Amino acid sequence: MHELSLCRSLFEIVTRAAAGREVETVHLRVGQLRQVIPATLEYCWEMTCAHGPLAGSRLAVESVPVRLECHDCHATTLIEHALVLVCGQCGSGRVRPIEGEEFIVTTIDVRTQECADEAADREHKVSGASAGMAQTAQDGDN
Ligand SMILES: [Zn+2]
Repeated sequence: MHELSLCRSLFEIVTRAAAGREVETVHLRVGQLRQVIPATLEYCWEMTCAHGPLAGSRLAVESVPVRLECHDCHATTLIEHALVLVCGQCGSGRVRPIEGEEFIVTTIDVRTQECADEAADREHKVSGASAGMAQTAQDGDN
C-alpha cells in the first residue's frame, strides 16, 4: 500500500524531529498529484505508530490542489477536482505542475508537561459539560 510506505518514511522523519518528546499532531501538506487518500494515510499512521514512542499521535493532512503552468501561454491553472491536466487558458497539454506534488511535514506539535495538564483540564470540562447541561464554555471560572 502506497500510504503505508509513506507512513514509514514519515515515521523516521517525525521520530528524529521529536527527539524523544511526546508527539501530539503531525501537520502535513500533501499535493493531490500524490494520489494519497488522507483517511487512508491517517489510518496507516495509526498502524505504524501503534506500539512505539509515537503511539497516540495523529496526522493533520492538508490537501494541496494541483497548479499547472502552461508552456504555451504561461498561464497558471488551478486543478481542483478533474484529473485532466490541461491549461485552463488555452487548453494546451504542454503544462508542468508547479504545485500538487508536495509531501511536506509543516509542523510537529509536541506535548509539553504544561500542555498535557491544560489538555487534561479541558477534557475534564468537556466531559463534565456533556454529562450535565449543555452550556457554553465558562471562561474565568477558575
Ligand atoms: Zn496555455
